Amino acid sequence: MIGGLYQSLVNLFGDKSRDLFYRTGYEWALQDMVMLNQRLHDEIGGANVDLWQMDAKFIMESWWTPIGEAGWGRCTFNFAAQSQGLVFVELHDSAVAAPFAEAEAPVCHLYSGLFAGALSFFERTERHAVEIQCHAQGAASCQFIVGPGAKIDAAEAMRVKGTPPLEIVSRLH
Ligand SMILES: [Zn+2]
Repeated sequence: MIGGLYQSLVNLFGDKSRDLFYRTGYEWALQDMVMLNQRLHDEIGGANVDLWQMDAKFIMESWWTPIGEAGWGRCTFNFAAQSQGLVFVELHDSAVAAPFAEAEAPVCHLYSGLFAGALSFFERTERHAVEIQCHAQGAASCQFIVGPGAKIDAAEAMRVKGTPPLEIVSRLH
């Protein structure tokens, strides 16, 4: 159903659908993080406990778990380059990539928006995201980079030129 909906929106909005999906994901994640913060207050207790005092990986996994269980795929968050403002996300079983066979470019813009929104909220600064490898192009998993706008623009420019994902990651460091 998600695949059909996605394809319909691509047919309706063409190139604009990319931005539409990204913004939708971004807003969805912001709303989710507000609710997660409230839930952590209620569960862990204490008015002084909030999401920003907790481990980034724990927060992102707590956020993603119910989304993954609802059928949106399995995510791994890699914070090894967080000191440089970069977070890497690997997604298996993207709900939107499956209907596409041999796409020419990554298609999971909704997920890019989700990761950018969630990390913008957590890091309390504007974060962008780009997908550098997609299951819709035949890769085993989808891979995303989240970080400052300039770095994400550089990553996207490299991807467009055909730079392999591993090289994009190493050049950004
Ligand atoms: Zn993808």
